[in-house]
Amino acid sequence: MKFADLHLHTYFSDGTFSPEELVGHGHRLGFAALALTDHDSVEGCARMAAACVAAGIDFIPGTELTAEHNDTEIHLLGYLVDTQNEKFLSEIAKFQSVRQDRIREMVARLNGLHVPLEAETVFTLANCKSPGRPHVARALVKAGLVGSLDEAFERFLKKNRPAWVPKAKMSALEAVELIHQAGGLAVMAHPGLNRTDDVIPVLVEAGLDGIECFHTKHSTVTSERYLVTADKYHLLITGGSDCHGFSKGKPLIGTVKLPYEYVEKLKQAAATRHSSLVTRH
Ligand code: AMP
Ligand code: ZN
Ligand code: FE
Ligand code: FE
Repeated sequence: MKFADLHLHTYFSDGTFSPEELVGHGHRLGFAALALTDHDSVEGCARMAAACVAAGIDFIPGTELTAEHNDTEIHLLGYLVDTQNEKFLSEIAKFQSVRQDRIREMVARLNGLHVPLEAETVFTLANCKSPGRPHVARALVKAGLVGSLDEAFERFLKKNRPAWVPKAKMSALEAVELIHQAGGLAVMAHPGLNRTDDVIPVLVEAGLDGIECFHTKHSTVTSERYLVTADKYHLLITGGSDCHGFSKGKPLIGTVKLPYEYVEKLKQAAATRHSSLVTRH
């Protein structure tokens, strides 16, 4: 049976694999299709696409937008977006710059706590447009200022810890619209991770296309609950590992194997959207 992983991160956001390494693991594990969903970025898509072509794997370009609705954080996956779309690129560039400012603010707070880290050290280590807290944590470990990534989050970076800085996020309704105008499909990521079920009907009303039923952190019961939700609202079904690199000594990719039929449905829905965009002009 053919299967896919539609939720993957590389070092173009806070993952640790290059696109080529990630595709190498995907190929070894027998995946027929892979999607790249770096946070607020499509920077790695071109390299991931080339690596997938070389490995004979279908590639789905994507991103994972950090958004919010009524103070609830919502992650929205945007699949099959046009990665050259100017409006899309300029909008996500704003949130990349918010992320960079936030790194500076977190570093300033650390300095206020007499932790001598420089923002440039974090940016050099991150080496991408979408830096986040994991990069600050890695820089702290690398500089010997904390013993582990966990310690970095527990002492400084977790919500309400002294170096934590809230992040300005785009509205979830705007994120759906942004994905649509770039020709993509908007999918709610890992609904089982946060208490976000109340937001589902609101997003459906705004044109949500799908829901991530299968995820590493979803139990079988949770996945089944969202399959029912998908059926109720006629949503596309997706799934993926949310791999950021190694986890307990193994690459996390491989923990979710989405049947390929769902990829076909996703592609059909995108093709229908494109043809309706064309006839409307
Ligand atoms: P950010 O987007 O900058 O707020 O960072 C969020 C990322 O930090 C998530 O994708 C997680 O991978 C990571 N993260 C959040 N909380 C923790 C934690 N307590 N320990 C380790 N990693 C965490
Ligand atoms: Zn991440
Ligand atoms: Fe997420
Ligand atoms: Fe993710």
